[in-house]
Amino acid sequence: MKSKIKKFIDLVKERNQFEPEFLQAVEEVAETVIPYIASQKIYNGKNILLRMVEPERVIMFRVPWIDDKGEIVVNRGYRIEMNSAIGPYKGGLRFHPTVNLSILKFLAFEQVFKNALTTLPMGGGKGGSDFDPKGKSDGEIMRFCQSFMSELFRHIGPNTDVPAGDVGVGGREIGYLFGMYKKLRNEFTGVLTGKGMSWGGSLIRPEATGYGTVYFAQNMLETRGDSIEGKTVTVSGSGNVAQYACEKATQLGAKVVTLSDSSGFIYDEEGINADKLAYVMELKNEKRGRINEYVKKYPKAKFFKDEKPWGIKCDVALPCAIQNEINSDDAKTLLDNGCYVVSEGANMPSTIDAAHTFLAAKILYAPGKAANAGGVATSGLEMSQNSLRITWTREEVDEKLKNIMSDIHASCIKYGKRDDGYIDYVTGANISGFVKVADAMLAQGVV
Ligand code: NDP
Repeated sequence: MKSKIKKFIDLVKERNQFEPEFLQAVEEVAETVIPYIASQKIYNGKNILLRMVEPERVIMFRVPWIDDKGEIVVNRGYRIEMNSAIGPYKGGLRFHPTVNLSILKFLAFEQVFKNALTTLPMGGGKGGSDFDPKGKSDGEIMRFCQSFMSELFRHIGPNTDVPAGDVGVGGREIGYLFGMYKKLRNEFTGVLTGKGMSWGGSLIRPEATGYGTVYFAQNMLETRGDSIEGKTVTVSGSGNVAQYACEKATQLGAKVVTLSDSSGFIYDEEGINADKLAYVMELKNEKRGRINEYVKKYPKAKFFKDEKPWGIKCDVALPCAIQNEINSDDAKTLLDNGCYVVSEGANMPSTIDAAHTFLAAKILYAPGKAANAGGVATSGLEMSQNSLRITWTREEVDEKLKNIMSDIHASCIKYGKRDDGYIDYVTGANISGFVKVADAMLAQGVV
């Protein structure tokens, strides 16, 4: 079996030589799915996984815009339309200077499995730009978004491809993108999710990824007769996902002691309660400030420059910042300090070695494609509300989100429970997502 997996990965490597993040995402899936394919006659000889790793379409385009000094800046825009076997392409847009084909293909590939896990009819895609929103004025952000959409609009649509937010793309950016789409197409449709409440958005969408990550941690703890109440939690990031993971964990009685950004992390031994979180939300979302300012406001807390929070003792870790933020040393440190639950709010925050370390230690470890699927699931609910022209209440959406997370948890158990009773959520999520997409692809023929 090992040689079969290696042969497959070597082939993908040959075709995608300079795409390390994409290869990492493929390898993690191949390790678990290839043995399953070999055990199931219907998938034999169909090259299904080989078809899945090839995007249906990759769109790359020029994004020229004019900055506040009157200079012309040129960025690169992308949309990866990865797989539409079970529904229109669906996945976020990332604006960050590190964005390239490798990053977006890894995210799009993960998205295909994640969207299948939600049980909603959504294919997988991802897009974005190497544009850096940090330090830009509102006017610059708007002009960039308008230029980006002036090309993207011809490739997307409510039944074709429905983008959303991701790193660097929040409510403000979705607003500018939606405005331009509407002007160019002259139609008001649910072509983007994460919209404002007065123009087609869904309640709970901003909260959904972070809340869902905590609900998933809670589901995992329940399998051991445990709960998140009273636990010490480390969170990385201080953006959308981190903020709402912190909020939900605190509401459920846990103590969140860290938050971070790309300049370092803050440690607040007393816990980041609702008041302190409200300060962080204002700092990050309105003032667009840095996390180190937290210690000026709350001097008992400490700031650790250029460090990650994984050395702080905790029961539960919620990585909610960026890919590969937990390496195998970080994983070992977490385990040495007694951490026994890791629920990934970010996409692929653990390296392959770190993931293997968690699995070998048999802790409760949920990969992002399961644990952070609440965001896209609620985007799916936003699409349904847009089509039906109705608005569900906060409680209704939250209830649906909770149910979706526990259904995903159940699918992971179905395919990931080992003979000794340990639940391997990585295998469970990969196989469960694979089966749904593969069956649809088989039914639709070689296209
Ligand atoms: P935001 O842009 O709101 O926040 C990102 C956070 O991560 C910021 O605090 C940012 O700090 C930090 N960060 C970025 N790069 C690094 C780095 N190299 N080292 C340390 N910290 C870093 O994004 P989101 O909260 O929306 O997304 C966070 C993660 O969750 C991503 O992996 C995303 O793909 C994933 N995700 C998001 C979903 C959503 O609904 N938004 C859905 C599913 C997954 P700084 O400000 O310094 O850059």
